[in-house]
Amino acid sequence: MDIKSYVAMRKEEMKTLISSMERKPHLVIIQVNDNPASDAYVRGKIKDGTEVGANFELKKLPPETPEEDVLKLIDEINKDDDVDGLIVQLPLPKHISEEKIKLAVAPKKDVDGFHPLSPCDPCTPKGIINYLAAEGFPFAGSNAVVIGRSNIVGKPMGALLTARSANVTIVHSKTKPEDMKYYLSHADLIVVAVGKLGFLDGSIKLKEDAYVVDVGINRGEDGKLHGDCVPNLPVKLQTPVPGGVGLLTRLTLLENLLEVYKK
Ligand code: NAP
Repeated sequence: MDIKSYVAMRKEEMKTLISSMERKPHLVIIQVNDNPASDAYVRGKIKDGTEVGANFELKKLPPETPEEDVLKLIDEINKDDDVDGLIVQLPLPKHISEEKIKLAVAPKKDVDGFHPLSPCDPCTPKGIINYLAAEGFPFAGSNAVVIGRSNIVGKPMGALLTARSANVTIVHSKTKPEDMKYYLSHADLIVVAVGKLGFLDGSIKLKEDAYVVDVGINRGEDGKLHGDCVPNLPVKLQTPVPGGVGLLTRLTLLENLLEVYKK
């Protein structure tokens, strides 16, 4: 099933579930910037939440808000029993420590999965795993290569694939080109999270039955969004950009909210 249909199906299931709940799952989003990209992400999240019948609330603060005021607001929301989930939209202004903010969110409300004690897995890798599972990808014993080792994508992706018994190789900017070629040409699954347009350009021969998950979001010279891979690689499945991993990430925020709500 393509990602759009999969996401639409899961949202329909959630809508039915939420309609039967007396108290609706409640998420608060704190945004401390005037960044147009953040505005678009937040709009998308609120649209998703509203569509499934959850209560999504935005608290938008001016970029000059002092760190202590943001921490105070987080503390108030942490203590509010009516709020199930809390996320702080990134990026934060330079005078606010991302690390401090991430650790200030009560773990049980951390639906982004950023706090080490959060019950939720981070949205992007978890969304990818759930989609691949729905597609019937045989994780156990498969050769999975993750390109990129960031804390929000590459590292947790590697951990979740390991938990599914894949043989995981994480490669990065220090990986030698000949090793990159070797790993990629033997991979059953490649998750590309680099942030470079056309990084996977078809020059390395991949397995015909490989699955390629393109996490990258890059603005092309045409002004449009593109992934890290050129389109139409000769593989079994390649996720598109746009309309791919971004939708899975958004879907998983809803899944994580339902998870903490139930807890
Ligand atoms: P990041 O923190 O910048 O990490 C990029 C990773 O790519 C780093 O580990 C880096 O290696 C590696 N890399 C850079 N150049 C490389 C090269 N030539 N060969 C191999 N590896 C190389 O980025 P991120 O936060 O993980 O995000 C990656 C991309 O995914 C971005 O385009 C971002 O916008 C997108 N993204 C999309 C979603 C979504 O929902 N669709 C969610 C999150 C991120 P080093 O560690 O050695 O520097």
